[in-house]
Amino acid sequence: MFQTQNEVLVVAGSGTAAMDSAVANLCSPGDRVVVASAGNFGERWLQIATAYGTDVVHVEQAWGERLDPARIGEAAAGAQAVYVTQSETSTGVVHDVQAIADAVRPTGAALVVDAVSSLGGVDLRTDEWGVDVVVSGSQKALMTPPGLAFASISKRAWELHAQARSPRYYLDWSTAHRAQSKNDTAFTPPVSLLFGLRVALELVETRGLDATFAHNRRLARAAREGVKALGLDLYSPDDDTSAMVTAFTMPDGLDGQQVFGQLRDRFGIVLAGGQGPLRGRIMRIGHMGYLNEFDIITALSGLELAMADLGYRPPVAGAGAARALELFGREPAHV
Ligand SMILES: *Cc1c(COP(=O)(O)O)cnc(C)c1O
Repeated sequence: MFQTQNEVLVVAGSGTAAMDSAVANLCSPGDRVVVASAGNFGERWLQIATAYGTDVVHVEQAWGERLDPARIGEAAAGAQAVYVTQSETSTGVVHDVQAIADAVRPTGAALVVDAVSSLGGVDLRTDEWGVDVVVSGSQKALMTPPGLAFASISKRAWELHAQARSPRYYLDWSTAHRAQSKNDTAFTPPVSLLFGLRVALELVETRGLDATFAHNRRLARAAREGVKALGLDLYSPDDDTSAMVTAFTMPDGLDGQQVFGQLRDRFGIVLAGGQGPLRGRIMRIGHMGYLNEFDIITALSGLELAMADLGYRPPVAGAGAARALELFGREPAHV
């Protein structure tokens, strides 16, 4: 899944535990680091790096933008590590990690990528692109319940780890590494999740990574086209890079949180609202994980009904689901 020869550490915790570990294990207080953000999860890197007392250079872009590799490369000169996000789940943007890696490489800084919502959903060639640390969690594209966090660690990142003096205990990479090299875990493992993960990984192995990525793009296309057919404007980019989350803007006078509540309470369908400054203004359909065509059609149909309850009428009744069905019929399934 990580497309790497590096060791992948597994700890009990949500994805943020792996993010936390990637600061605590690479940095000492006062170290210069770069955080590039254009949304809520990018800003989480900023909070963690600040909590550990690093000297943070924040390459800040507006929410919803794509990270600019050139700006990140410029800021990375003299930095110990650069922290970025692959799939910015709060906006639906998938950043170009390969281009960012190319920009960071000449500076010698270690590149750390938050792939919590994208690992196993979109391509991330850890070794080929030269990403030092990739962190992820079990509950998004990895199709498993929440509670496992992962970090793949390059040789150079292990060297930085040996120098890093940030306080750490539960998430110390050396502790996890010592146990894993004896096929053990340092602390009580969530056994049930590991069994679940094995099933998910076997599924991906059977399908193949490329077919899994193609499956995600196909679902995402239907979600985008369906949303547009409902007369709504996309917030996330209208192209195949947005394979994990489709975000769209609320029409004037409609509150996304109300639509969210209506969908959940009436139909048991849980979409996501906007985070931070986007709360109420956008909604998000997450299509990473164990999903098929019906999940998209159900989301679009439920959305139409819930919005109708709140007074919104699409240009043509049923147009969202119909458009999704049309696309599914046109492009054969990949898995
Ligand atoms: C969900 C998510 C996280 C946080 O993961 P938790 O498992 O909630 O700790 C971090 N980054 C991204 C991009 C995410 O989508």
